[in-house]
Amino acid sequence: MPQSLIGIFGGTFNPVHVGHVRAAIEVAEALGLGGVEFVPAARPPHKCGEPMLDFPFRERLCRLAVEDVPGFSVNAMEAGRPGPSFTWDTLETLGRERPETAFCFILGQADLPQLPTWKNGLALGRLAHLAVHSREGQGLEAFAAFMSAHAREMEAVPTADPARWNLPQGRVMTFVPITRLDVSASDVRERWRRGRRIHGLVAEAVRHELENHAEALEAVWGRRAPA
Ligand code: ATP
Repeated sequence: MPQSLIGIFGGTFNPVHVGHVRAAIEVAEALGLGGVEFVPAARPPHKCGEPMLDFPFRERLCRLAVEDVPGFSVNAMEAGRPGPSFTWDTLETLGRERPETAFCFILGQADLPQLPTWKNGLALGRLAHLAVHSREGQGLEAFAAFMSAHAREMEAVPTADPARWNLPQGRVMTFVPITRLDVSASDVRERWRRGRRIHGLVAEAVRHELENHAEALEAVWGRRAPA
């Protein structure tokens, strides 16, 4: 992979937590990415039923979470697009607007089984390299099983390394094992509602921002029990 490769980490980030930041750091280090852009979904098609903080707030939390990580940034491009936030559209726009840059889309292993339901999900490798990182102990076997089942539609060809498949136009799809951190945004929201401490689950700057906007949070996540 070229050194100028930029990682694109999409997510709802409702809120962004330490599992997200560690995953992006470990993928960036494993693949030698030149940087990672967190791309909060404006209107995630698969999470429409969830109580979601508004986009500017989730974006601000992401900025606070990555401000100290060299090479990391937040890209708010999905806010400007009407309708559901499809990754296909995001990668197509990035390719059109920054033709000199190669992109690597990053997703967690837990999301891989849903890829066939995404807009042109199995064709994303035509627009970007793909990196799949482990989540909650799901590892290489699950990745290999998915790839074997969908290789034809993805135009993916196995290599001697089971963690690396070749995609069209010289791109690759790689499995990256990362440190297991069983943190989820739903768990953070649930603890917050129950009046529990969320120290250590989110960056301190993110926690301060959440505390400073407790009223706004209650309006979305639900009433908070007294600590
Ligand atoms: P929720 O609990 O609300 O479903 P989430 O914690 O899974 O949210 P998302 O914003 O949906 O967060 O996740 C964005 C991406 O980060 C996804 O690819 C997801 O698999 C990955 N991810 C989230 N949490 C972790 C974690 N603890 N370890 C590794 N990857 C993670």
